[in-house]
Amino acid sequence: MAKAAFDASDTPTLWTHEPHSHLEFQPGDEVGDIKANATPGFKGSKSDAPDLQDERNERFAELQEMLYARSRSGDTRKILLVLQGMDTAGKGGIVKHVVGAGNPQGIRYASFGKPTDEEQAHHYLWRIRNALPPAGHLGVFDRSHYEDVLIVRVRDLVPPEVWGERYDEINAFEKELVDDGTTIVKVAMFVSLDEQKERLAKRLKRPDKYWKYNPGDIDERELWPKYQQAYQAVLDKTSTEYAPWHVIPCDRKWYSRLAVTELLIEALEGLDLSWPPADFDIKAEKKRLDSV
Ligand code: AMP
Ligand code: MG
Repeated sequence: MAKAAFDASDTPTLWTHEPHSHLEFQPGDEVGDIKANATPGFKGSKSDAPDLQDERNERFAELQEMLYARSRSGDTRKILLVLQGMDTAGKGGIVKHVVGAGNPQGIRYASFGKPTDEEQAHHYLWRIRNALPPAGHLGVFDRSHYEDVLIVRVRDLVPPEVWGERYDEINAFEKELVDDGTTIVKVAMFVSLDEQKERLAKRLKRPDKYWKYNPGDIDERELWPKYQQAYQAVLDKTSTEYAPWHVIPCDRKWYSRLAVTELLIEALEGLDLSWPPADFDIKAEKKRLDSV
């Protein structure tokens, strides 16, 4: 039997509260205090994760398909998942193991690296606007406009008076998206310096991981304290009531994946979705089908 779309028993019982209440950035929270190996709000253990992940992936997939289905009959709402984090934090794993459970027809994935010459010739939000999710889609930003106040700030790629203006501009941009029917789920993924080292070492050891390794990752690693400051500024200045940041400890991949899954489910449930009704006469169509 198909699972009912909405069922209070779906509430994830292995969480002490709604996950977002543990994860939402609060004014005064310090990046330096984040424990990347913590599992805030989760009562279960690693051994509970695989089954729970499967179960919640299914719920996510059902809702995500519903969102897409509704867009076929004019619902223009969309979700935008913004993933930010240092290399190895696990952005790719979220894309593969969480978002990957959804229906690709309704997913718009975009990753943002060093701007191309063409991108560089435009305002920094140009490439971002071009990658926004259409109606009914889940947009996934693997890195985002926040790079323009992270690496750009850390590496002095533009003068401080230029990047300094961007926080307000980003807030205004996100407000525009929200007013246009986008639910923004912002996820800041924090891995510890030690865990990053292990993950980079693995990338250097395993042929199936070489593709993820970039010598430049070590250069960014050397700038860790400056990145911590830049992340702090992002969280302080761009956590808004309409687009709050969530801080995800990422040393335990099983935890970060469960946590982001819950944030997505929560965002989708907040849209109060249902399957679109038939826009044809069901009885008449059954009859027609019987006759051919
Ligand atoms: P990856 O996501 O591992 O493929 O790496 C992409 C790289 O591009 C990261 O080092 C980002 O910090 C960098 N990057 C992304 N956006 C920008 C930007 N606007 N300016 C400069 N570098 C960027
Ligand atoms: Mg990388």
